[in-house]
Amino acid sequence: MEELWRSLAEATCGFRERLGDHPVSPSVGPAEIRRHLQERYSFQRPVGAGELVRDVAAMLERWGVQVTHPRYFGLFNPTVRPVSVAADALVAFYNPQLALWAHAPAANEIERHVLRFFLGRLGFDPDGAAAHFTSGGQEANHTAVIAALTHRFPALAAGGLRALEGQPTLYGSAEVHHSFQKIAHATGLGRGALRTVPVGADLRMDPAALERAVEEDRRQGCAPFLAVATAGTTAAGVIDPLPAVAEVARRHGLWLHVDAAWGGAALLSRRLRGHLDGIEAADSATWDAHKWLSVPMAAGMLFCRHPAVLARAFGTEAGSYVPKGVRGTRDAYATSLQWSRRCIGLKVFMALAELGAGGYEELVDHQAAMGEALRERLLGAGWRVVNRTPLPLVCFTHPRIEGGALSPRAVAKRVVAGGRAWVSTVHLATGQEALRACITSYRTTPEDLDILVEELERAVAARQGRGLKRTRLGPQPPPRPGSPSPQHRRRT
Ligand SMILES: *Cc1c(COP(=O)(O)O)cnc(C)c1O
Repeated sequence: MEELWRSLAEATCGFRERLGDHPVSPSVGPAEIRRHLQERYSFQRPVGAGELVRDVAAMLERWGVQVTHPRYFGLFNPTVRPVSVAADALVAFYNPQLALWAHAPAANEIERHVLRFFLGRLGFDPDGAAAHFTSGGQEANHTAVIAALTHRFPALAAGGLRALEGQPTLYGSAEVHHSFQKIAHATGLGRGALRTVPVGADLRMDPAALERAVEEDRRQGCAPFLAVATAGTTAAGVIDPLPAVAEVARRHGLWLHVDAAWGGAALLSRRLRGHLDGIEAADSATWDAHKWLSVPMAAGMLFCRHPAVLARAFGTEAGSYVPKGVRGTRDAYATSLQWSRRCIGLKVFMALAELGAGGYEELVDHQAAMGEALRERLLGAGWRVVNRTPLPLVCFTHPRIEGGALSPRAVAKRVVAGGRAWVSTVHLATGQEALRACITSYRTTPEDLDILVEELERAVAARQGRGLKRTRLGPQPPPRPGSPSPQHRRRT
């Protein structure tokens, strides 16, 4: 085992330092990877564990978008805190089973302890509210919809949707996360049950339009039950007007869920947290740790002010094989969607313990400041920013794009092909297509922003049809899988 752990250390130490010279995105197709796997892994002869670690690390290093790169301006995938990687290794090693408190007392209490910290930041009562870790925002949102249905329609548990009088309907803005489409499908509500409420020019939900939609549905015999407000939309990082949405939900007896999958981190910053005022009125909230809290996937969190509803929604008769519960504790299998479950919270616990609340605040504030700096640099270089948010996500366009000379997609493609930075595009609910850059790494510096803007300028100046060459990448390409890399040799 010692040798195996050593090979793991050798394969990964130094990667962060090399990363600046490393292309952010690979240029590879399925054939090359499949050939490598076919040639080396017929599974006819055993492969040494150390060799395996080296080869897999080389594959991941060469053939993937490096989301932990400081110039990955991407889709909420963070640079991970090393201590949270160690936490995941510890979890995998001891493999605690969290379904039952009695099976994993330490791991269960660690999760409970760290969740109480986040409950406090949300303004929920740590003693009265429930919280658990999920695989991510999708599962947390799914849990919230099931809880809202269970709360609102007592007949549903036994009789299903067919036992209900009218079609239950739920509401999110036109920028709501698309996970709700899958959830509407998976819960049997049907995708048509998800009403998308118009947004204003600022991309925030229009609460008056929400109210009109609810009233109209009610007139049609539907049964509105849930309003979803987003605190930090995925496309543009915009925060819905939480107090106004909460007021409409209260007036119409709707469960209020706040999806703060990414934006929840703002609650850790004294500078930013006021932008999420109103979240404390939610019945439930989603907050992903594997986004801005900078821990590895998969780590979401679901908070709910109604523990009894979760117990009704997810409780079962205990199987005869399940040991009895322990007084003063809740068994996760009976209060959440998963059954067997890994310890997700240790990586959050260890990251928070290592940084401290103040360290996390600095991390969040640094990324927000980089977002601000990126906005300024873009405006200074003649670009136009098309979203408004205090969070570090910038949607932008250029006079040459608006003049029709080239598309946002073409610009993003050129930047990505250049290998020095990664950006993407979005189609906003206003109908506009724009470039999108999010500060996802706590290691992003002002120099990284300069390089991004330089690459964007090159992309927008390049003549149509000409790609950017990968001429300015670092001197050494990452090691080819299968060939011992110089780094490995040097380090052993
Ligand atoms: C990312 C995201 C989700 C989905 O979360 P996963 O962790 O990817 O499952 C849901 N809502 C919002 C607002 C998000 O940004």
